[in-house]
This record gives sequence, structure tokens and C-alpha cells, in this order.
Amino acid sequence: MTVYLVGAGPGDPGLLTERALELIAAADVIVYDRLIPEQALDAARPDAALLYAGKEGGGASMAQREIERLLVEHGSARRIVVRLKGGDPFVFGRGGEEAEALHAAGIPFEVVPGVTAGVAAPAYAGIPVTHRDGASAVAFVTGHEDPGKPSQALDWEALAAFPGTLVIYMGVRQLGAIAERLQAAGRAGSEAAAVIERGTLADQRVVSATLAEIAAVAAARDVKAPAIVVIGSVAALRERLRWFETRPLAGLTVAVTRARAQASGLAARLRALGAGVIEAPAIRIVALDGPAPPAGVYDLVCLTSPNGVRLLFGRLAAAGLDARALAGARIAAIGPGTAAALREHGVLADVVPERFVAEGLVEALAGTTIKRALVARAAQAREVLVDALRGQGAEVDVVALYETVAEPLSDAQLDALAAADYVTFTSSSTVEFLLAAVGERIRSDARLASIGPVTSAALRRHGLEPDVEADRHDIDGLVDALVADARIQLAHSGGPS
Ligand code: SAH
Repeated sequence: MTVYLVGAGPGDPGLLTERALELIAAADVIVYDRLIPEQALDAARPDAALLYAGKEGGGASMAQREIERLLVEHGSARRIVVRLKGGDPFVFGRGGEEAEALHAAGIPFEVVPGVTAGVAAPAYAGIPVTHRDGASAVAFVTGHEDPGKPSQALDWEALAAFPGTLVIYMGVRQLGAIAERLQAAGRAGSEAAAVIERGTLADQRVVSATLAEIAAVAAARDVKAPAIVVIGSVAALRERLRWFETRPLAGLTVAVTRARAQASGLAARLRALGAGVIEAPAIRIVALDGPAPPAGVYDLVCLTSPNGVRLLFGRLAAAGLDARALAGARIAAIGPGTAAALREHGVLADVVPERFVAEGLVEALAGTTIKRALVARAAQAREVLVDALRGQGAEVDVVALYETVAEPLSDAQLDALAAADYVTFTSSSTVEFLLAAVGERIRSDARLASIGPVTSAALRRHGLEPDVEADRHDIDGLVDALVADARIQLAHSGGPS
């Protein structure tokens, strides 16, 4: 079979290529490096062998020869082997050597280029590596070697004279020596420079200074690998072109506590706004077995969550039924997410209350005559809706479609949670389960963001006052409220550090 030398990009999972994701999902064996995006392996098959080759940045790592031996061995065994490397596999990744070893062993290989850190990290810092004014060339340079050493692979005189931008990989440790060497060889100390640490990741940091001062400034700010050094007039453009750290939630860590199956929408919205997102699902949704509700007997069907919709239609499908089983009934949905889930099944909700809580639905239905209603919902739901419908004289059948159970959190998730600036709560069950699991681990000055009054009440029952409560009780409303709060906090603190 084939060995794929695949670039995973510089860190932002959004910069993984489609081809990379496709091969990760298909691989029997994945041999991966340390500097690959955290989520890169999420798409791997559950039965794929994931082999850590821990390279780069020193520390215990597999020897290069050992990695090559591994690739040849698995490559000969009729397996799909993905060699997953940070950035681009052929830019300072020793991908060339691995390809040579495969070639020598007669094993077919393909190369999947990746977004290289030397272009992406500057881009995320607002630095174009070339520019019509004064940067018509760019050089990718390894800063791994001590430029003071007598035997040098690099010609520092030539690099100093290079008419364009110098982009230096692996250069943090030697930055002082590199800057001195370049100046000694004639590069102007007044030239602009920047160092981008953990480029494209939520916690990216950038320091800017002149070439003469960049090493001292980077050391003072304790800049560490992985980082890219940019030397050239383009580095000054960052003053105007920075965009990454000006996004509304840049520099903030936000914990998402809802069930994993539902977390991705909220997490993606927060990431797009610049937040570092910690997914700490405190609950998991477990479908309950049961029959499909009888067709044609209800004049009102109430759905209270997208999960409920999904599982109700699951039960109908299992009974060989479809949306027509609900024909004749008015359909009520709490919240636009629930209505959207219904739409996916071809059903337009007749009633979507303005307030996305059970009380809102009660108000919306007040005064209507209901003979027999179905309320399809979670096992542990509040009785507000059912009581109100019965109060209106309706016969009410309650179908418990699912229950929420505690989801254990890993130590890494707990540690990450303990550092979050914001913790979001999207239901009272997330409050109950998260606080039961980790209450004391939430930072005392973390801001608690609640989706609405029911969730806020759950927090208050635990003696916690929400700092943020959404006006609109859905995910968009929660995100809007969080952004508004972050803006106020930022104004108070006098801007980002
Ligand atoms: N093949 C990789 C480079 C591997 S060498 C690529 O094409 O990007 C490792 C070096 O890449 C690090 O020392 C650092 O200089 C750079 N690097 C990798 N990821 C980075 C990131 N997210 N931000 C800044 N530099 C990064």
C-alpha cells in the first residue's frame, strides 16, 4: 500500500487540508509528530494504530532512523500509512529523508503539502511575507544551528544580503546569536522584526521590535518554541494589519459544558470569534427505549429540544413511520434550534414561543383548546408545561425520549476548565452535573454565562450568581451576551495585555 507524507498545518485545525482529513480518516496506521493540531486525530478510525513519533523541540523522541524503519515496515504490510507532520512535510520536517527511505525500500508514497508555519504564523500576525513594496523575495531559514559555530551549513553573509524577508524556523533559542550575526554581516539593526509564538493557535503571542532589540524583547516576554521569527520591513505592517487578536473573544478561554454531541456548534461559534475553547462535556445524552407514539390521536405535539426531535423521529422510523404520523396535530417547539431540527424532518412548527422556555410555550398556548397533547422530552424535565396543559383541560401523554447522565471528565479537561475565563451553561442539567463533578475547580473569578433564567436559577441554587445571562435563550443569544460582556470587561481592564 501507500505511505502518505501529510502536512497537518501549523496548529489551527481549520488549516488542515481536505486531503489530509480524508487520509487521516482512511488510515490503518498514523505516525504523528508533537506539533500537529490537537484535533487532527479526531477523525481517525477507532481501530487505527496511532503511533507517536514525538519529534521537534527536544525531549524524548523517536530517532529519525526508527521513524523511517517504522514507515517502511508498515508500508510493506499492505496498510494505509499516514505520516502526519506539522506544517508542510517538506519544509524543515525531514519529510525529504522519509521519502528517500521509502523510495530506497521500494514503497510507494505520496506527499500531501500542508500550510507551513513560516507563512501561516506571520499571516495570523498580520504580516504578509512578501509585499510589492520592498519584499519581493522570502527566504525560509533554519535557526536551529548556533551561528557562532565554526562549521556552518548556512551562509549568514548571504542571508544578511538577501533582498527580502527572512523567515526563521526553530530560531527562538539562538535568536540573540542570529540577530547579532545578521547585523555583523550588514543587516540594519533598525529593520523591523517579529516573533510569533504558537502561531494560528488561540493563544498565539506576537512580539515586535527592531532587529537590534528583538532578542531582548522576546527573552523579556519569555517567548518559547514553537515560534517563527520574521525579519524584514513587512514585520512592521502588523501595526495596521493585525486581525487575529482584535477579534471579540481573542485571548479568552471559554469552557463549553454541554453534551459532546451538541457542543460543536457553540464551540465553533466561539472559536470563530477568537476564543480558545475548552470542551468539558459534563453530561451525555442517553436515548431511552420505547415505542413510537400513536399516530393520529394528538391535536398538539410539543417538542422541547433538538435532541427530542431527533429521538422522536428515530422512534417513528424504527416503527416504519415518518412525519405523517404527526399529521393533524399542531406542532409546538421550544426554541429555534428545536424548530430547525423539525424542519430537517420536513415539519414546520406551528408554534415557536418568543421566550425559549417552557413558560413561553405555556403563554403561547394559553386560551387554545387542546384535547390530547403529546409532550416529547427528557426524562428529567420540569413539569411546567405538562401541568399547564392539564390545567387547560388537556389529556397529556408524556414521552421520555432520553435522559442526561454525568460524563466523566479527564484530568486534562479539569485542568483546562480550571483556567477558563468563561464557563458557559446551556441547561440546568449542565449546571447540576458540572458543579457536582468539578464545582470547586472552576476559577473563582471565572465569569459564568447562562443561557436563560432556568439555567441561572440552577446556578443560584448552588450559590453561584451568573455574570452573564442571554436575552435570547438560545446559542446565538448566549454568544451575543458573552461577546457583549467581554467587550465591557475589556474596556474596564484597559485593553488586552
Ligand atoms: N514542517 C513544519 C516545520 C517544522 S520545524 C512547517 O512546515 O511548518 C518546527 C518549527 O516550525 C518550530 O520550531 C517553529 O519554528 C515552527 N512552527 C511550527 N508550528 C508553529 C506555530 N504554530 N507557530 C510558530 N511556529 C511554528
